[in-house]
Amino acid sequence: AAKSLGGNQYHYFTPSMQEAVQKRMHMINDLHVALENNQFETVFQPIIDLKTGDICRAEALIRWHHPVHGLINPASFVPLAEDTGLIQAFGDWVFLEAAKAASRWRKYVPDFQVSVNISPVQFKNEGIDTNVWFAHLKSLNLPPEAIVIEITEGLLLDIDEHTSNQLLALSDAGIEVALDDFGTGYSSLAYLKKLDIDYVKIDQMFVKNLTTSEEDRVLCEAMTVMAHKLDIAVIAEGVETLAQLRMLASFNCDYGQGYYISGPVNDEEFEELLAASRNPDGNAPGTMMGHV
Ligand code: C2E
Ligand code: MG
Ligand code: MG
Ligand code: MG
Repeated sequence: AAKSLGGNQYHYFTPSMQEAVQKRMHMINDLHVALENNQFETVFQPIIDLKTGDICRAEALIRWHHPVHGLINPASFVPLAEDTGLIQAFGDWVFLEAAKAASRWRKYVPDFQVSVNISPVQFKNEGIDTNVWFAHLKSLNLPPEAIVIEITEGLLLDIDEHTSNQLLALSDAGIEVALDDFGTGYSSLAYLKKLDIDYVKIDQMFVKNLTTSEEDRVLCEAMTVMAHKLDIAVIAEGVETLAQLRMLASFNCDYGQGYYISGPVNDEEFEELLAASRNPDGNAPGTMMGHV
């Protein structure tokens, strides 16, 4: 862009770039305020057991209700939180929210699990204070296996000893680990065992054309078979149709998550979904699977 302006380097910052920089500075400032003023909300997306159709777990997903800009999705602000070091405080907050939800919903479903997304940046520098997390669990009287942390393959790409130690401290304590967006990165399969991964989440890009693309069907099935051979359970993301749900069940994929089942909802709505899924008079188990 600078060259097209006649090679004058001093024109590098065009007015629109200055605006972008300023907007970013404002957003960073707003992010600090948001943490102090509780502008974040955790929403929950149900995950069902593909054998029974029952809701058996939830993924906690963060939302930001900005006082001026309205609802902001994580894709827009998580990277900012990562760049500014706010991700640590933010991650601790989400963890506690997930733990509180798990302790409520375990009253309905004793082995209910809530999963929480962890940014690779949370492990950097001073890292996660695992003792704080364990203290939260203790204060809620919640067993560690009620929580699943979701990490991405990107984390495994340049994993250092510091990160793998924190990860193993969490999983040794009994917190389970899911590899998110599975199949989209370049992680070494050896890490699946080395890091004690309990679940892989097949990325929605493979599920999207599952019933129309032979290639995607083969990939989904192969990932499922491989994970099972390693004693790893499989969650399919982005399930948007009954046909996808049935095909995933047909090759023994364990769990499904996606708009066909439900989008992310607030905690009250989630509790209603959970009650309905367990109530034989209401939305009977299996209804979701189409075999009423
Ligand atoms: P993710 O962990 O892979 O989460 C799944 C995303 O797919 C969510 O987007 C969810 O709303 C969306 N989704 C669910 N079902 C469907 C479907 O059937 N079709 C389609 N097209 N999309 C579906 P969301 O909530 O916008 O989150 C985006 C990403 O932001 C997440 O991807 C995760 O990487 C990150 N994220 C969300 N919450 C947190 C958090 O608390 N902490 C951190 N570090 N990252 C978070
Ligand atoms: Mg996730
Ligand atoms: Mg484990
Ligand atoms: Mg994902």
